[in-house]
Amino acid sequence: MAKLQDEYKEQTPSRFVNEQFGDTNVYFQNAKSLLTKATGFIAAYDFTLNPYRGCQYGCSYCYAAAFSPNTQMRKDWGKWVIYKENAAKILGKELEKWYRKNPNQPPRIYMSSVTDPYQPLESKHQLTRSLLEVMLDYRPTLVIQTRSPIITRDIDYLQRFQRLRINMSITTGSEAVRKDFEPRSPSIKARFNAINKIKQSIDSSKGFIPKISITVTPLLPTLVNDEDDFIERLAIADRVVIQDFHKSDSRSLVASTRQEAEEFKHKYSWWYDQGKYNYIRFKEKLLSRLSGVEIKEGKDGFGYE
Ligand code: SF4
Repeated sequence: MAKLQDEYKEQTPSRFVNEQFGDTNVYFQNAKSLLTKATGFIAAYDFTLNPYRGCQYGCSYCYAAAFSPNTQMRKDWGKWVIYKENAAKILGKELEKWYRKNPNQPPRIYMSSVTDPYQPLESKHQLTRSLLEVMLDYRPTLVIQTRSPIITRDIDYLQRFQRLRINMSITTGSEAVRKDFEPRSPSIKARFNAINKIKQSIDSSKGFIPKISITVTPLLPTLVNDEDDFIERLAIADRVVIQDFHKSDSRSLVASTRQEAEEFKHKYSWWYDQGKYNYIRFKEKLLSRLSGVEIKEGKDGFGYE
C-alpha cells in the first residue's frame, strides 16, 4: 500500500494562492526534505525526487491524486500545484549528507513518482532545471519520468549526466483516446518529437548517451487504424514498458486508478470487455515487431538497468 510521503504528513498547503498559471492555483511552500526513500515499484532506487506536489496534467487515471493534501484538492487534481521554493538548497544538503555516509556510492534517484517534473509551470520557474544543476555535482544515477517536451530545454544538462535514463510516458497511439484519458497533457506527436530531438541533439562524442524508455503505463486502447504506426514509432526507444491500470480500491488514500478513468473505460468497452486479451495481444505484437527493443512489464520496466 502506498503511503503519504513523509514530508507532507503534518502539512497542509498554505491557504494563500500565490500565483495563477492558466487555470492552475500555484502555492509556494518550503519543503522539509526533497529526497524520499523509494519504495514499491521503484524500490530499486534510493530516492524519489518530486520538485512539485500536484500536477497540471491531471490525467484521469493518475494514482498520485491519492496523495493530495485534502479531499477537495483530490477532486481538483490537475488544477493546483505546490511549488517547493527551497528545493535546490535542500537537495544540495541532502546529497552532501548522503555522501558523508556513502562516500563511494552515488545515489540512485527517480524523478518523479507523483508529479511531472516538466509540467507547464516548469517552463516559467525552472525548478527542475535548478535541481539538475545541483545533481550534476553529485553524479547520481538518474531516471527522469515525464510526458512533456519541455525536457528538451534541458538537453545541455542532460548531456552531462553519466547514468541517465529518460522515461517518456506515451500511453496510447490514438490522439482521440489521449484526449479522453489525459486531455491536459501534450500530444503524442509532441512527445515522440521530444525523444527524437533528445536523441539527435546528444553529442555521443562527449561520452554517455542517455537511455530512453517509453512507458506505456497504463496501456490505454489504441484504435485499430493507429496501432501499427504506434508500434513502429515505439522503436525509437531502447525499452518499452507496459502495464495495466492500478487496481481501484475504495480506501481514499490508496494509490489507484481514479474514478474518472474507470468511467472512460466504459466508452472503450471494445478494448476492456475482453479482460486481459487486448493487453496480451498488444504485448505479443511488441515482442514480435520490436526485436531491437527491450519489452518489459510493470515494476521490471522501471529499473535503471
Ligand atoms: S503526468 Fe503523471 S503525475 Fe501528472 S497527472 Fe499525469 S500521471 Fe499523474
